[in-house]
Amino acid sequence: MDSCFCSSYRKITSVHSFCTSFKMFFSYRNCIIMLFFALLLVLPFAIVVTQRAKFSSKTPRKLLDMTKDEKLKFLNSFDLVLSDLDGVLWNQSEDIRGAGDGFNALKLGGKKVAFVTNNSVRSPKDYVSRFHAAGVDFNPEEMVHPLKSIIDYLNITKFEGRIYCIANELFKNSLKEAGYDVIEDPSKLFTESFSELGKYIFDKEKPSAVIVDVDFNFSGAKFMRAHQYLTRYPDCKYIVGASDKILPIRPGVEVLGPGRFQDILTQATNRTPIALGKPGLELSELVLQKFDISESSRVLMIGDMLEQDIGFGKNSNFQTLLVMTGGTKDHDLEDAANRELIPDFVTTGMVDFVDFFAEINSSKI
Ligand SMILES: [Mg+2]
Repeated sequence: MDSCFCSSYRKITSVHSFCTSFKMFFSYRNCIIMLFFALLLVLPFAIVVTQRAKFSSKTPRKLLDMTKDEKLKFLNSFDLVLSDLDGVLWNQSEDIRGAGDGFNALKLGGKKVAFVTNNSVRSPKDYVSRFHAAGVDFNPEEMVHPLKSIIDYLNITKFEGRIYCIANELFKNSLKEAGYDVIEDPSKLFTESFSELGKYIFDKEKPSAVIVDVDFNFSGAKFMRAHQYLTRYPDCKYIVGASDKILPIRPGVEVLGPGRFQDILTQATNRTPIALGKPGLELSELVLQKFDISESSRVLMIGDMLEQDIGFGKNSNFQTLLVMTGGTKDHDLEDAANRELIPDFVTTGMVDFVDFFAEINSSKI
């Protein structure tokens, strides 16, 4: 009887266990099915919200894709345009089609236009002829470049002492004309001799500033000398002008820029340079003073380079517009490394402002 009872009991227990498992299975299954349908319902909303967030924070608005109302709002949001030159108004050897018309349209639209370039290699005379050829009025007072900014900085800080300058001859001569004492450093080739190199690097000079801009005769020896000055004399100022990592010559052609050489010096000396070219913070302070800017959000910075132009605009809290006629390619905008440098607006070239104003003006009639 006992065995019969035990057998029955086992059967009842196993049936109960089976029923419990069965219920649990269906309970879990129901939960999974419900979860699946919930996800199906929520997923489209999540995608839309994510896309909108992505668009608003990291996708630049295309100038000509904006509605008329958006164009008007954009137009009324700035008074001063600061623009780069190379890659915007012209490339190395030729003007960019319609870019001058774009700047003139902005001027006719009531905007003040000035230029902030990293190019100190051209002489003022060269600039006059380039602007003339591009059909844009040129006022030297409305242009900022590293040479002018560095001289302004030296004047403002009442700089005294000798300067070791790695830059082209025009740059060095302009510093001398401004009254500064530049250490002579003729470009020459060395014989491969340590003693000759040593005499050049370990000289008796004690400069109060080392300045680095574009030099067509960059050499290891010049940077070894600058390194000695900057490490030997902690009070010696370290000033840089143009810091472009690459220099676009024309679409598809670019050469190594001075920024890469400066990076070596900066790392080797563990010094932070006073940056008076774009995107430098010290340049930003000078520009805010020069143009008497009290509300930086009402300035539109235009340029073709993410790091130099858009970076400068962001460092200065300006609005930013990227043009695709110079050194930036479409894939650069998608590169995660450039996430902090995504401009507010983007357009194919300055010529687009002609169409932009045509639409604005037609909407006023
Ligand atoms: Mg440029």
